[in-house]
Order: sequence, then structure tokens, then C-alpha cells
Amino acid sequence: MPVDKLRFPLIVCFCTSLALPLSAPAEPGAVTASADRLQQRITDLSKLGANPEGGVSRVAFSAADVAGREYIKKLMQDAGLVVRVDAAGNIIGRRNGSDPKLPAIMAGSHIDSVPGGGNYDGDVGVLGAIEVAHLLRERGVVLRHPLEIVSFTDEEGGLIGSLAMTGRLEAAALEVMSHSGKTIREGIRAVGGDPDRLERARRKPGELKAFVELHIEQGAVLDEGGIDIGVVEGIVGIHWWDVTIDGVANHAGTTPMNRRRDALVSAAELVLAVNRVATALPGRQVATVGRIRADPGAPNVIPGKVVLSLEVRDLASDKIQQVYEAIQAEAERIAKARQTSIAFTELQVASDPAPTDERMRRIIAAAATSLGLTHKLMPSGAGHDAQDMTHIAPTGMIFVPSVGGVSHSPKEHTSPEDMANGANVLLRTVLAIDRGELD
Ligand SMILES: [Zn+2]
Repeated sequence: MPVDKLRFPLIVCFCTSLALPLSAPAEPGAVTASADRLQQRITDLSKLGANPEGGVSRVAFSAADVAGREYIKKLMQDAGLVVRVDAAGNIIGRRNGSDPKLPAIMAGSHIDSVPGGGNYDGDVGVLGAIEVAHLLRERGVVLRHPLEIVSFTDEEGGLIGSLAMTGRLEAAALEVMSHSGKTIREGIRAVGGDPDRLERARRKPGELKAFVELHIEQGAVLDEGGIDIGVVEGIVGIHWWDVTIDGVANHAGTTPMNRRRDALVSAAELVLAVNRVATALPGRQVATVGRIRADPGAPNVIPGKVVLSLEVRDLASDKIQQVYEAIQAEAERIAKARQTSIAFTELQVASDPAPTDERMRRIIAAAATSLGLTHKLMPSGAGHDAQDMTHIAPTGMIFVPSVGGVSHSPKEHTSPEDMANGANVLLRTVLAIDRGELD
């Protein structure tokens, strides 16, 4: 929807719903996110770490990331925010509310990218949140709650900033080497944080009124459906297993077909079964075999052993369990028929599903509707800082369309109008929370 069409309803919102009187009369263009300004800022930010393909390689703690962080700090200051860097290197811009006793509403995302990334992943959420602060300042609106805009440290390297903010960053993670060539510990220090005092970055449950993240979808659901806004139901949980299939290695020339215990043939049937189970069950679960290794791995030897990966994702832990159990039952049947054995080992890298707050979903959906935008409830198949924030605050996520569903690529694209739509929904979400719609 063109941004122009959104202006009138937003004026209505300001005039009728805000607790505080507005000092200036509503001027149509002044209360709506500016698609031009958002696009300009995306363009400016994309010069920092630009790669030859037209995207960015602004990995956390690189010179480009440091330049991007300075750019974001400047925008925050221009939007009237008081800027600080916490012990985890998260950039936080704050404006006070009228009631100093109230907890802050927080909004934001990240500006670091994967190597060879695009210009929208994370950036839209940080710039959209700054746009909200900008509009509030421009209109002279004082919220009851403080507002904090955050740009999280090193999202792509494992949600480092939000894990620290929620007190869940393991000490060992600090020693991991990042793409910048610095360890996470060195990187946090280089951007002004203090890795030895990460507890200072911690926000306790209840300390924040709410957290909202605006983000590009990174999938094709909204784009293909012609839908303006995704209301995220949660970030899916991810469980991984190593599956070991044992058969008997033997001579590929002298062993007749009816005397074989071929581990790879069992594996092939299992791969098909995984696909069949995940497809047949009702719901949006996904299951994938992404890696397979056959031993001894010679053209003239019947494979005696296969190790393959199994990944299952869903918004509900019990659905993940249900999919797994159905796959296990199939595995038992295949193992028996093929005279092999199939064993599953669950790996300790799983992330649990992180559902968003139901009230936040309702507020975001209502915000979209009030702007004349279409919306859809949907899970996020990708990880986000919001999943950590669900541990300490009522959390919501707003998706805007990714053209063609392309992401983590220089071809990533979201239109200026869609970015502005997202910022407008974010603004109305913040206003609704401030009015007490979470209470
Ligand atoms: Zn992201």
C-alpha cells in the first residue's frame, strides 16, 4: 500500500488515543514514517561494508561494523535519544517518559551482517525503531514509559548481545573466534563494552515493559501472498540429531542382492520417511536431512555404516517431539526390513521454541488493521534477538516482506513503502503499549 494512504488513519490515532495532549496541530506528513528517509538511511548504511555484489559484508566487530555503529549512534542522537553502549556492546538510545517509575519499552534489532549479506536484515528494525523515536520527537509526543532503541551486538555470530542482555551468554562463547578475526571477548571490548562485567548489561525479568523487533521476513510468505505485515507467533525451536545406521560392509561384487545389509539403502528410505512424516502431519513443522556420510565410502564396497543429520523445527516442543517419534517409528520399520540398526543421538545444540506474547500479537495485528494493512500470523523459521528477549519481557515481532523471499544475500530487498509500513506498525504498537494495552 502506498504510504500516502496511511497518513490519515495515523492522525486519527494521535488525536483520539494518546493520553497526553499534543502541542502542535497534526500535519499529515509529520506523523507517518518517511519511506524516503528510511530508504536514504538504508542506502547510507549499505555503504559501510559494501560488497561488490551490492550487499554488505559488515560482520560484527569489523571496521565496517564499527563505522555502522557510529552512524547509528549519530542517528539516535539526532532523534533526541541519549546514547550509551552497555557492557555487551549493545547500543542503547533512550528517551525518558513522563512517569519515571514506569519500565522502558524497548524496540530494535541489529546492524551486523553475515559475510556476503544484504542491506535489510536487521537494519530495517534498527532504522525503523529510530524512525519511531524521530517521529515522536518531531511531534513533541512524550510517552508515559521511557523508550529504549537498541542495536544488538553480533546477532549473526550467535545472538551475542541479546544473550548477554538476558543473562544467558555462556562464558565459553566469549572465546569463540568471530568472522572479524577477533574473539567475541576482544570484539566486545573493541566496540566499547566490558566482557569482564557482562552482568552489567543484564536486564532482569520485569525491568522492561515490552520488547518489539521489526525485521524483514527473510522468507517468501508475505511477498507471495501480497500481505503487508507478518505478526510473528514465535521463533521456532530447532532440534538436531545424529542418526547412525549400522549394516554390514561387504564385497559389492560377490554379495548377492538378497544377502545384503546395506546401511545406505536404509538411510535412503529413512530420508524419504523424514520428508513424508513432516509433510503428512498437520501443521507447519519442517524436518530436514542435510548431511550424510557413508562408510567406507568406496564404489566397490556395500556401505556398512551411515551417519546422517536430522533437524526438526516447530513453534511447539511437543510437535517437534511428535515428529521425532513418528520418524523413529519409521526408522524401526526400515531397520527391521533391511536387517540394519538405526540409532538416534540428540545433540545439545537445540534451541527451544520462543513464542511471542499473545497480547503483543493482538496489539501488532490491531496496529496493522488500523493502518489499512493486511497481516498474517506466522512463525519465524530464522533465529532473532527477540527469541532471547522472550525470557525477560513480553515480546512481539513485526515482519515486512522480503522480495522473492531472498535473504543473507546481496539480492535481499524490501521496498521503501514496506519499510515505512513496518515502522508505522511499530509506532502504533509502541503507542498502544504506552496506553496500557498490555496491562
Ligand atoms: Zn536479522
